[in-house]
Amino acid sequence: MLTKLLSRNTCAECKLCCIFSRYDILETPVLSPEIRKKCEQLLPEIKFISKGKESYLFRMNLTEQQDLFSCPLLNSETGCILGTEKPFDCQIWPFQITKINHQEAIIISTLCESMMQQPIGVLIDFLKQDLAEKIFSYAEQNPDIIRPYDNRSPVLVLKQEKF
Ligand code: SF4
Repeated sequence: MLTKLLSRNTCAECKLCCIFSRYDILETPVLSPEIRKKCEQLLPEIKFISKGKESYLFRMNLTEQQDLFSCPLLNSETGCILGTEKPFDCQIWPFQITKINHQEAIIISTLCESMMQQPIGVLIDFLKQDLAEKIFSYAEQNPDIIRPYDNRSPVLVLKQEKF
């Protein structure tokens, strides 16, 4: 979904969004029941934690590096074993949906160095072209994807804006 801004090679070399520290463990992807089923078929030993009404989070694996957790679907050589069928949350990262004063908003995680090199106007135009609508409409069907605002990530688009 982000290939116009972020090349597949850049993501393949980085994999930062699939490794979590104790401080960003809440950023782990929110999974729909369908994705959970697919993951269980691929890796029956995988463990989940319930999130909200009908979503799940992965129980993350501690890596060899102290205090870092790796997504159980991450293959260190080939990347995500779900390929192009990753959770919606992973497809749109570093964009995320949050709620600020009861209003839905799309923010960007500053952890993604490549995206943070883009001018903010380019990111906003990119979202407004059609991704923002997709994100808001996905969140309507899957409200568990909406995270609490972290009070620091840049806010790019508010739901009420016309685009
Ligand atoms: S599901 Fe795939 S893309 Fe998402 S965090 Fe795990 S390995 Fe990374």
